[in-house]
Amino acid sequence: MSTFPPELAGKLIDGKGIARSLTDRIGREVSSFIEQGNAVPGLAVVLVGNDPASEVYVKNKAIQTHRAGMRSFMHMLPQSTKQEELLELLAQLNANPQIHGILVQLPLPPQIDPVVVTNAIAPHKDVDGLGEVNAGRLSLGIDGLVPCTPLGCLMLLQSVHKDMTGKHAVVIGASSLVGKPMAQLLLKQNCTISVAHIHTRDTRALAREADILVVATGKHGLVRGDWIKPGATVIDVGITRVPTPEGRTRLVGDVAFEEALPIAGHITPVPGGVGPMTIACLLHNTLQAARVTQGQSKGEAL
Ligand code: NAD
Repeated sequence: MSTFPPELAGKLIDGKGIARSLTDRIGREVSSFIEQGNAVPGLAVVLVGNDPASEVYVKNKAIQTHRAGMRSFMHMLPQSTKQEELLELLAQLNANPQIHGILVQLPLPPQIDPVVVTNAIAPHKDVDGLGEVNAGRLSLGIDGLVPCTPLGCLMLLQSVHKDMTGKHAVVIGASSLVGKPMAQLLLKQNCTISVAHIHTRDTRALAREADILVVATGKHGLVRGDWIKPGATVIDVGITRVPTPEGRTRLVGDVAFEEALPIAGHITPVPGGVGPMTIACLLHNTLQAARVTQGQSKGEAL
């Protein structure tokens, strides 16, 4: 980040730093939660198969969970796991009082239906917020567990905007994991929402109207500098690993960052933007789930 001149560096939204502050705060809250006589919050993460990227994510989640003073339970299942076997494990985790949050790492092998699996997690332990109960609550604007990545994006936006009322927010990407819940969260902030997807006719023209632009497509470099309204806040959720001329790989986002930086008012880098917030929000949701179990909260997400 220090490689940019000061006038451009000031535009960067420091996801890494904001995530660190959030994780530190959660750590302090976990200590006082335990001091009050409550159980140590516990997070179970289930990985099926041996996708190298997923293995890295899952291990990282376990490290951060320990750092925040919570218990981490890892379940690594083989690629050949049957759906019934996974559902049986989830039933055990649902019934285990030491576990307050359950996350099944996606993607799953083809023999397992992710919708069936996410709906098998008890709603009060569904810290990824992807089950139909929490998704329904979000769409109704009532308290629940909110998917970690869009929740992290919202926190990054709140670091720039005290009030988003009346702003035009354009979300490019309409997945259940990111785009749709993001749009719901922005609607709750009184934004006017547009959601673009692969069938949208002129995504560039729509993006140019955005005061807030959130991009989550997985198409690296899709959003060019001339897609951005001068001064807009840009949140880049995309993560793609691309080869470098030196024969290595590096992570890039969905936004052509070098083009976008001079035009945007504020922008997240990749890496170091949304990614770290996703894990911090997972810890946030796990503590929230533990509080709900102890009857200390009705379940508000923020
Ligand atoms: P997805 O494939 O499920 O959904 C992609 C969405 O983008 C779809 O709605 C599709 O219609 C839309 N889209 C694709 N091409 C488009 C185009 N040319 N114009 C307009 N819309 C287009 O992906 P996802 O799970 O939502 O993830 C999106 C990206 O975000 C991926 O790169 C993923 O790795 C990344 N991601 C990052 C984090 C994080 O923690 N930073 C978390 C989740 C996902």
